[in-house]
Order: sequence, then C-alpha cells, then structure tokens
Amino acid sequence: MRRLDRETVDRIAAGEVVTRPARVVEELVENALDAGAARIDVEVDGDGTERIRVADDGRGMSAEAAAMAVERHTTSKLPDGDLTAVETLGFRGEALASIADVARLTLTTNDGGPRATSVRVDADDVTVDSAGRGRGTTVEVRDLFHNRPARAESLAAPATEFERISDRLAAYALLRPEVALSLAHDGRRIFATPGSGAFADAALAVYGREAARESTTLDATATVSVGDDDAAVGLRGVLAYPSVTRASADHVRVAVNGRPVSVPALRRAVDRGYGSLLPGDRHPVAALALSLPPWAVDPNVHPTKERVALRAADAVADAVEDAVADALSTADLRRSADVAM
Ligand code: ADP
Ligand code: MG
Repeated sequence: MRRLDRETVDRIAAGEVVTRPARVVEELVENALDAGAARIDVEVDGDGTERIRVADDGRGMSAEAAAMAVERHTTSKLPDGDLTAVETLGFRGEALASIADVARLTLTTNDGGPRATSVRVDADDVTVDSAGRGRGTTVEVRDLFHNRPARAESLAAPATEFERISDRLAAYALLRPEVALSLAHDGRRIFATPGSGAFADAALAVYGREAARESTTLDATATVSVGDDDAAVGLRGVLAYPSVTRASADHVRVAVNGRPVSVPALRRAVDRGYGSLLPGDRHPVAALALSLPPWAVDPNVHPTKERVALRAADAVADAVEDAVADALSTADLRRSADVAM
C-alpha cells in the first residue's frame, strides 16, 4: 500500500466517483474482483442509499493497509505509478475515500491471519478495531448521501436505482462466470451464479432456465494487427438465439479484460455478427468477454472507467463480428417463440 505522487494523481482523469448507488456497488465489486475473490455476495436495501454490503473471499488486507485504504489516493495496484501497465480494474485509489465522504462506511477485512480488522468511517471519525472474520473483505455502506441532500434528491425512483444496480451486477455475473456472484434485495435473492466458469451456467442463473435454453456459447481466438504488432484476442461468452430479440441494445453486454464496458462500436459488431438473422430494428441478447493484451487497451479515458479506448478498434470489432457469426452458424437455431429475458 503506497501513496501516489502528485503527478500521477493529476494524470488520472478527474471525475466524481460516486454519483448514485449503482456506482458504489460497481466500485466495491471491482475491488473484490481485483482482490482475487472467487465469491462475492451483494446485499442491497431499498434503492441502495439505505444499505449496500459487498462481501468477498479475496485476499483481504492487513490492519495497516485497511486503515490506509479509506484515505484518498491510496492504492496497492499501480506499479510505480505507471498508468500504461494497468491490469486491475481499480487503480485510482479514490473509490473507498469518495464513498466514505458521502456515507457511513465500515470495512472488515482479514488477510489470512488470526484476527480481522474493522475500520469505520463516519464523517471525519475513523475508528479501527479488531474483529472476527475469515479471509476476505466486507464493506458495508449505510446512509449514502446523508450529507449530500441535493444528490439524494436527484436520484431516480427507488425501483429505477435498484434496476441500475441489478443491471450492473448482471453484467459482472455474465461476463465473469468464474466468480460466484449473488445479489439479494431487501433480503430476497435476485440471482446467484455458481462460479463454475461456464458462461452457460451464469446465463442460466441470471436469465432463468427457459431463456438460457435458447442460447449458445462462444469460445474463439483471433489475431489482430495493432500497429506493427500482433495482438491475440480471446472472445468468450454467450449468445441468445436470434429468436430472442430486444428493442434496446442494452442487452448486448461486452467486457474488455474482465471489465464491463460501454463501447458502442463493439455492441454494433455483435449486432452485425447476427446479421440478417435479426429483424431490422431488433437487437440480440448477448454477453461477450474479450481479452486483449493490456498494451492494446487504455482504460483511463472515462472517470467511471466504463469506456475504454482500444487500439485497432476496427480490427477488434471485425474479429467480434466474425466470431459471433461463426458461433451462430454452427448453433442449432430452430426458431421458437420469443422468450422473456
Ligand atoms: P483502487 O481500487 O483504485 O486501488 P480503492 O479506494 O477502491 O482504490 O481501494 C483502495 C485500496 O484498498 C486498494 O488498492 C486495495 O489495496 C484495498 N482494497 C479495497 N477493497 C478491497 C477488497 N475488497 N479486498 C482487498 N483489498 C481491497
Ligand atoms: Mg477500487
């Protein structure tokens, strides 16, 4: 755990981290993934401002690291402040501090030792205690925006805020099937993936049995020229049959190196892969996880990291289109009734 130097901090794209409850969930889940968690359990009460709790079985933190983690611009992830070599999801070192600014945050963590540490942040009070917990980390965030009334008022209706949360988590669940990810809302289970690594299993857990039956998996590699170099691109995921279509393109989910991203060009490439199998104005339901060498990706172009810049984006999009078209051409596409997803 180190403090980033000023210059590195300044080079990190500015931006408010915590704009709504879904952003809190996103940051906490990304931290859990970065910590190598095999299992992540998320609980949300109400619209998320009441309570969000994310528990993982990742590598945890020492007592010293835990106390430092809630401070601004502290990260364990950026080797030598080198923004060109980022392989983890986080790297700005500001999520926990930003969340603690606008909520009451309790972090309980154990890095494998006999005792866990709990760090509670409430306004400017930081309390560090020892606690009981097995290896891993739990972060609980209560009373989000209690000290930001304007932000609290600008939130959408509770059902809409929760939908954003469940939509983001569904993306992680579908695109990181090696992680067992569960979501509970007001004590009721929404979904829980088994963490088997199979995209089909994750789709079954998120979409339900009937819809998952109408899908095929994709597992391909391609070589793409990036400047003078060749980049190996891995493409894995799940594609609903063209019998399952949507009016909105939001059901095409794409991740680049484990991070769900919003890159319209990649979405459109998935659409093109379905080609004439799709009726004109309809979109498919698909989750596609791309892996690229880190040097071919610049994740630092948007404050929420949701957009990434790809080098050779057109070539990558072509590879996506081809892989999707190939996977569908070998699938058994007996047309059947549209299925709710
Ligand atoms: P960043 O993720 O950008 O480094 P954060 O504020 O999100 O910044 O987290 C600060 C640091 O706290 C991380 O670098 C990591 O060392 C530690 N940390 C946060 N969450 C977890 C977790 N769930 N498991 C282990 N370590 C964590
Ligand atoms: Mg983080």
